[in-house]
Amino acid sequence: MHCPFCRHADSRVMDSRTSEDGASIRRRRQCPECGMRFSTTETASLTVVKRSGVIESFSRHKIVNGVRKACQGRPVSESDLALLAQTVEETVRATGSSQIEANEIGLAILEPLRKLDEVAFMRFASVYQGWESLADFEAAINVLRANREYTESGESFDLDETKRLTDR
Ligand SMILES: [Zn+2]
Repeated sequence: MHCPFCRHADSRVMDSRTSEDGASIRRRRQCPECGMRFSTTETASLTVVKRSGVIESFSRHKIVNGVRKACQGRPVSESDLALLAQTVEETVRATGSSQIEANEIGLAILEPLRKLDEVAFMRFASVYQGWESLADFEAAINVLRANREYTESGESFDLDETKRLTDR
C-alpha cells in the first residue's frame, strides 16, 4: 500500500477492524518513511451470476430496488428495506463463496421479507418463483398460515413450560 503523502511503497498496519456487516476490513496504517497515518478499506468482492450468464458485482441497492416494488402501498420503510438488504448480504456472504447465483439471492430475500410483510412476500415470491395459478398462491398461503400457527403455538408452549418449572 503506497503512502498517499510521500508515495513511499510500503506502509505498516497498526490496527485492523472488520465492519459490522463483515463485508469490509478497515486498516489504520502508518508510513515508515514520513510517519503520516492513513486508513484503507478493503472490501471482499462478491459477484452475482445472472440467469443469462452475465456476471455483475453484488449490490444492496439492486436488492432494495427489487424488493421495493413488492412493497408498494405496504407499511415498509426505507430503513426496513436497507436492513433487509443487509441481512441478505450477510446470508450470502456467510456461504463463504465469492460468486453466487442470482437465484440464491432471491432465496435469501424470501425469509426476511416474509417476516417484514406477508403481502409483500406474496408479491415478491409470485414473481420470483413464477407462480402461474391460484393453486400456487393457495399453497403459499397455507405455508404462511402453518408457519404462523407453529410460531404462536411454539411460544405458548414455551411459556407453559417455564411456568411448570417455576411452579415446581
Ligand atoms: Zn509517507
